[in-house]
Amino acid sequence: MNCILRIAIDTPLRRLFDYLPPVHCNTTPTLGIRVGVPFGRRRVIGVLVAVTAHSDVPQAKLRRAHEFIDTEPVFDSHLFNLLQWSAEYYRHPIGEVMASALPGQLAQGAATTSSRECWQLTPDVSAGSQQPLPKRATRLHTLLERLSDGAWHDATTLANLHPDWRTGLRTLEQRGLVHRTLKTHAEAIEHPPPQPAAILQLGTAQHTAVQHIVESLGHFATLLLHGVTGSGKTEVYLQAITAVIQRGEQALVLAPEIALTPQLVTRFRNRFSVPIAVIHSGLSDSERLSSWRAARSGQARIVIGTRSAIFTALQRLGLIIVDEEHDASYKQQEGFRYSARDLAIARAQRQGIPIVLGSATPSLESLLRTLRKPEDLLSLPDRAGDAQTPTLKLVDLRQHAANQGLSTPVMMSIRKHLDAQSQVLLYLNRRGFAPVLFCPGCGWSAPCPRCDARLTVHQRRHKLICHHCAHEQPLRNDCPVCHAPVKAVGQGTERIEDALQKIYPDAPLVRIDRDSVSRKGELDATLARVHSGEARLLVGTQMLSKGHHFPDVSLVVILDADQGLFSTEFRASERLAQSILQVAGRAGRGDRPGEVLIQTEFPDHPLLQRLLHEGYSGFAHAALQEREQAHWPPFSRIALLRAEATTLATAVTFLRMAQQLAVKQQKKVNVLGPAPAPMTRRAGMHRAQLLLHAGSVGPLQTLLATLLPQLDALPDAKRVRWSVDVDPIELF
Ligand code: ADP
Ligand code: ZN
Ligand code: ZN
Repeated sequence: MNCILRIAIDTPLRRLFDYLPPVHCNTTPTLGIRVGVPFGRRRVIGVLVAVTAHSDVPQAKLRRAHEFIDTEPVFDSHLFNLLQWSAEYYRHPIGEVMASALPGQLAQGAATTSSRECWQLTPDVSAGSQQPLPKRATRLHTLLERLSDGAWHDATTLANLHPDWRTGLRTLEQRGLVHRTLKTHAEAIEHPPPQPAAILQLGTAQHTAVQHIVESLGHFATLLLHGVTGSGKTEVYLQAITAVIQRGEQALVLAPEIALTPQLVTRFRNRFSVPIAVIHSGLSDSERLSSWRAARSGQARIVIGTRSAIFTALQRLGLIIVDEEHDASYKQQEGFRYSARDLAIARAQRQGIPIVLGSATPSLESLLRTLRKPEDLLSLPDRAGDAQTPTLKLVDLRQHAANQGLSTPVMMSIRKHLDAQSQVLLYLNRRGFAPVLFCPGCGWSAPCPRCDARLTVHQRRHKLICHHCAHEQPLRNDCPVCHAPVKAVGQGTERIEDALQKIYPDAPLVRIDRDSVSRKGELDATLARVHSGEARLLVGTQMLSKGHHFPDVSLVVILDADQGLFSTEFRASERLAQSILQVAGRAGRGDRPGEVLIQTEFPDHPLLQRLLHEGYSGFAHAALQEREQAHWPPFSRIALLRAEATTLATAVTFLRMAQQLAVKQQKKVNVLGPAPAPMTRRAGMHRAQLLLHAGSVGPLQTLLATLLPQLDALPDAKRVRWSVDVDPIELF
């Protein structure tokens, strides 16, 4: 039989590579196994995606694969199918897609199970009663020699004998000289506590939600768990998963931030007496492999992880949960730009299981889905237990001038809450000391030499730093143009920290942002100071706002709500509403009622007014109407072609060719641009973009399928770095 292997190899090329099988093909090899192949001068490991009868490559030029690494596919069949689909959907090279789904050590050939294959001489050979091999079979002799001590040997001692060692062993096995076995050991993963924590008595809404999820087990459903902050969504997950485990199935739980997984994992570990595997970017290679194996073998009954955990192979997946489903970190922003939330839905569909999307501030995509299918909406309108929903108030900065970023009503409230022995959380999504270094003499402000952006003042490190390209230079005191003394203008978390320490010297303070907790373990240590009650004032960025449960926080201050109020980005208002409500949700989660103060210069802005009076649902319905009128997603589908080059003209010229090709082929897709990106120069490159916009997904995908190979083939493609982003969440 003429059999050609089509292999996905980790390269940026949008294609499969054809090989001859390592040995004569009697039976068709299983798709989804790893195959070792020669690639240029290297040996690489790819994944077998198809077997065909003929290749476009001339027979004489086809190279032979070295070896089949697996006998069984690495991915379960639904996952394998999902990966192929997502390579197409996101228009990303399939080899890179497969590689991103494999833990590093598997991509380098480690076994998929921790059972090692071992070989030993058969008793006859050991006893010398069988005359083995012709003299010239030197390779086989080398193998036999290594095995001659009669012990079991695994890959670690045999693989370095020669490249084709597996084939050699197979020959020896076929001749009855050697036999093989699998030696297994269980993965060292999280183990259950001796005494599980008490199960909470569910509130009525929680109970209905759990019941609905449990009734959906065994078939596909996309359920939206819309529960206000502190409504007990996690308890719903825990009790739904109890039912999954009773069915003998596994649950996959995705969380947006690596910083949040330890809290989530602790709550799960305290509840369940089953092994739990954790998968996130903070693991070492061997920890990651171990978690992955435990998930694939079915040993781990619950898998908790961040974005990339969506690619975990699972033996008996029964339920997927995506916590804080609105969170932007589910979308990978470079390379393979997938949305883990959307892939989770696609995976659940293939698998025929329910998925639960949980959030206090659901994405408009998810809300629209439940408007069309109301039975899939599970609501938790109230906080769990005795906790009250916090009250939101606006502080008009036009009436109450802020001093060092803090207005008088805010300062008085902070004092009041501190005196009542509560904790106070202040949120400002801008790290550093000040966003601008400004010269009052001539109007100069410190620019980044590589970006169209200003440098941020970092007083502690005595530096000016670009938050876009990480460029750093020393902080200066005078203007390079007119030599007048310069001033730091505006507020960052560092500056707020200084101001608070002066005003409330008695209140211990922690600052939580990427500068203050950059090292591993620092965040945990800082959070411990918050939970112990030692810290009274908490200042931070998004890092502090998401998901945390701080029962003693009774006042939350949003120092600047105005960033994003007037952005032209179509998702800006959604993001702003979500971040305001998420940070507000940190207030009053314990016994003390919560208060939220929002400083703004635009108290009449409809977005703020709606949030105050109608809550997230009111905001979301209005936002959906606006999106519908403007034909933006979720009422349409978009893809963004980005190009960057050393000059803007080069990038624009390339995209203009793309535009001309696109317009010719698809009348149902609007092609908008090319236009310079909002921040045109970044890290020394000039950037432009072309927006493809369609009423539905079909025409957009049809266009991309033909357009991208044409772009690959353009000579100008070599002069730019370009990429495609399907369902982009940021338009720059
Ligand atoms: P969410 O994830 O919706 O923000 P959590 O699951 O963190 O909310 O729950 C908030 C708090 O309420 C937690 O301290 C949790 O233990 C508590 N809680 C949840 N459900 C109940 C319940 N049914 N009865 C009492 N307390 C509950
Ligand atoms: Zn000057
Ligand atoms: Zn820069």
